[in-house]
Amino acid sequence: MAEAGQSKKRPLEKLDRAVIFIGPPGAGKGTQAKEITRLYGAPHLSTGDMFREHVEKGTPLGRQAKPIMENGGLVPDPIVMGMIGERISRPDCAHGFVLDGIPRTEAQAKWLGELLKQGGFGRPAVIHFVVDPGLLLKRLTGRRMCQVGGEIYNVYERPPKVPNRCDHDGGELVQRPDDREEVIGPRLQAYAEQTAPLVEYYRSQGVLADVDAAAEVADVTRRVTEILRKAR
Ligand code: AMP
Repeated sequence: MAEAGQSKKRPLEKLDRAVIFIGPPGAGKGTQAKEITRLYGAPHLSTGDMFREHVEKGTPLGRQAKPIMENGGLVPDPIVMGMIGERISRPDCAHGFVLDGIPRTEAQAKWLGELLKQGGFGRPAVIHFVVDPGLLLKRLTGRRMCQVGGEIYNVYERPPKVPNRCDHDGGELVQRPDDREEVIGPRLQAYAEQTAPLVEYYRSQGVLADVDAAAEVADVTRRVTEILRKAR
């Protein structure tokens, strides 16, 4: 695969900034975050993945988040802030990181802005994943995730070489409980009401760039790296 080849000849330049991926569920943020963090060797901070791990381990936080996630709602801001604030403070984030799934509310965006300023990261680079709503349903219902390493596939657009098995580690591919059709509606609604307004919030700050997220994975990765290079 082109993207696997790219990761082998990784340029190893440092990200040196906070990069925010914003876009509706199913736009490909997780897939691209994995590609970009492989290329730059920076951590991929996905709040959704963190919550899923808590749910799997049955931690108190996981028990709180589980019913909310299963209904397509948003976990309360203070919980999200506590979790991601602790993660960003770890040493591996010192040279930048990719945020996938946060901020999702105005309160999270304002809080994050302060946190980044205080942490010496300055203004983030925000990548807006633009995709036709019609494609989202196909992306979400077709999405499968490796149970072992979290690699993301799509039965329609990006199938694994062997059905239901991860190309990287052979792990079983499963559907996320919130990718069921009945949960997709509330998730898209939460995005439209609470997260979509952040696009203009960041655009007005001059830190946002749009990306056509309907394009092929490798093309989107190329476009994102181009934006990050120019934003330096
Ligand atoms: P994701 O993997 O980003 O689609 O997130 C899965 C679910 O985790 C979401 O539908 C929310 O219930 C929860 N979640 C993830 N990130 C956040 C966030 N920043 N704020 C509130 N809830 C979140």
